[in-house]
Amino acid sequence: MNLSDEKILNIFEETGALLRGHFLLTSGRHSGVYFQCAKVLQYPKYTEMLCGVIAEHFKNFEIDTVISPAIGGIIVGQEVARQLNKRSIFAEREDKALTLRRGFELSAGEKVLICEDVVTTGGSVFEVIEIAKKAGTEIAGIGFIVDRSSGKVNFGFPQISTIKVDAVSFSSEECPLCKENIPFVKPGSRNVNPV
Ligand code: ZN
Repeated sequence: MNLSDEKILNIFEETGALLRGHFLLTSGRHSGVYFQCAKVLQYPKYTEMLCGVIAEHFKNFEIDTVISPAIGGIIVGQEVARQLNKRSIFAEREDKALTLRRGFELSAGEKVLICEDVVTTGGSVFEVIEIAKKAGTEIAGIGFIVDRSSGKVNFGFPQISTIKVDAVSFSSEECPLCKENIPFVKPGSRNVNPV
């Protein structure tokens, strides 16, 4: 699969997944750019294409199970697992901490691939890494669609992103958009319109 960054960004723009405005990210940081990955993953053909880059990268790795943080990572994990024909599970927040529910289990020695949609500081992925380590699994790698850190996030395992973007983010204290008194939005389940 050979997808140019330009082609991928076009798909994000076209589907409304790339928003510009003033956003409070899940990481707590502020940014003028937001990737609403769910908007592009509405379309199975794009999900297949974008996750295909991750599946292709890890096709020769020994993997038993794909695990992802809810909610954003679920579709990515499921599609990568489908293409690799592996089991797929997810961790979800309970009292703010990611945890395995619904009878999902990991066993010692199991080889896991961790998948996510968008990574800024990688907080959710690091939490899943801890879950995987505590269960005694072997982490084969990390795959995600958008690397907002332009490759700066390093999980300490083999990792690949479908696209690397240098999308600058700021702490609230140093955010230039806050200094201009532009109200920020916290993208979530409600509609977020580009400013
Ligand atoms: Zn701000």
